[in-house]
Amino acid sequence: MKLPNLDWVNQDSPYLRQHRAGFRLLSFDDELEQAFSRYHITAILVRMRWALLVAMLLMLLFAVLDAVSLPESVRNRTLAIRLSVIVPTLLIAWLATYQRRLRPYLQIIVGGAALAGGLGVAGIIWVARAHDFPLPYEGIILVTVFFYFLPGLRFVTAALCGWLTFFAYLLVEVLSGLPGELLLYNAVFLASANLIGCFGCYFLEYASRQNFLAQGLLQDMAEKDFLTGLLNRRAFSERAERTWRQAQRERQALALVMMDVDYFKRYNDHYGHAAGDEALRAVGQVIGRQARRPLEMTARYGGEEFVGLWYGIEESQVMQILEDIRSEIEALALPHVQSEATGVVTISIGLAYLLPQPHQDLEDALRLADVALYLAKEQGRNRVVSKRPGCPA
Ligand code: GH3
Ligand code: MG
Ligand code: MG
Repeated sequence: MKLPNLDWVNQDSPYLRQHRAGFRLLSFDDELEQAFSRYHITAILVRMRWALLVAMLLMLLFAVLDAVSLPESVRNRTLAIRLSVIVPTLLIAWLATYQRRLRPYLQIIVGGAALAGGLGVAGIIWVARAHDFPLPYEGIILVTVFFYFLPGLRFVTAALCGWLTFFAYLLVEVLSGLPGELLLYNAVFLASANLIGCFGCYFLEYASRQNFLAQGLLQDMAEKDFLTGLLNRRAFSERAERTWRQAQRERQALALVMMDVDYFKRYNDHYGHAAGDEALRAVGQVIGRQARRPLEMTARYGGEEFVGLWYGIEESQVMQILEDIRSEIEALALPHVQSEATGVVTISIGLAYLLPQPHQDLEDALRLADVALYLAKEQGRNRVVSKRPGCPA
């Protein structure tokens, strides 16, 4: 698949890492694998429902065919298999697709229903053979093709259903004493259906994984800062606006934080732009580690400025977090001989701590954080200064 220029994706992106590592065995690293499972089930849910519905209708159609064309001895048993085993399992799987909490298990549930269908059809052939009725065996090929292509089963599940059905069918024919040449032909046809299914299903899942990675890469490009991997300014503003409104509704305190690397122009001038980029990356990593829970976020606001937001947190707690950020950046011990603060790269931090009021907006809070940051610079840099609305400096 042709992807946009990947030099502009943050190089730590898990999607980029996986894209480069490849996935020929249809498996991703742990964290991505779980995300892919969720993506895949959402992508194929509608198809899965329709496939199960169509399978049920076809089964009922065949039941009608059985009812009008089979001799009584065979008819009752085949109808029992169709109506009390295959259709109910398909129905249960179909209903399960409407239960959100069952989504993580849908591959297993639908795989189980598909297998019940395959084994059921093998059972029907067995009944027919036992009564010497020449029932065509092709139904089992139809069922096999169904496993692989319609319900959106992933390769492993579909292959398991397909080959188990194949062996069940072989067993039935061997036990029923089907003549050798016929058995061979039927077995080769069914095995071929399985092989075609395996190839098709493999490439379908591979394409689905490619789409998943492409989507993740595009999202990373749109939302993440290329250099540090933190959110970019636009993504931060969008999410912070939402969190702001939530805090207004739920009357929760917010901590808005502006951070700015000290004497960074001099750093660039002295050590060069590439070293400056490396320093920003290291600083960004320290900042990013401190906001990992939902409703906490940090972002690169632009240049050597970062922002952060913490939701429903005590002022003393957030002050501790910010002090940790400040001291960890100092502890990186990146030499900065031109700094008047210390001999290493440091950061100044301004905190606006507030309970969002109806007449305030996010911009007001960011301005307040900026004032606090200005004070931190004025007081000598490499420090955290906090401000609450209405409190004089
Ligand atoms: P202060 O302590 O007052 O913040 O001083 P400062 O020099 O850090 O502030 P100023 O805003 O004057 O300079 C910011 C510098 O950050 C300017 C630019 O050279 C540097 N910078 C901005 N973005 C990048 C970047 O993406 N990479 C690198 N290497 N440098 C950057
Ligand atoms: Mg600046
Ligand atoms: Mg600066």
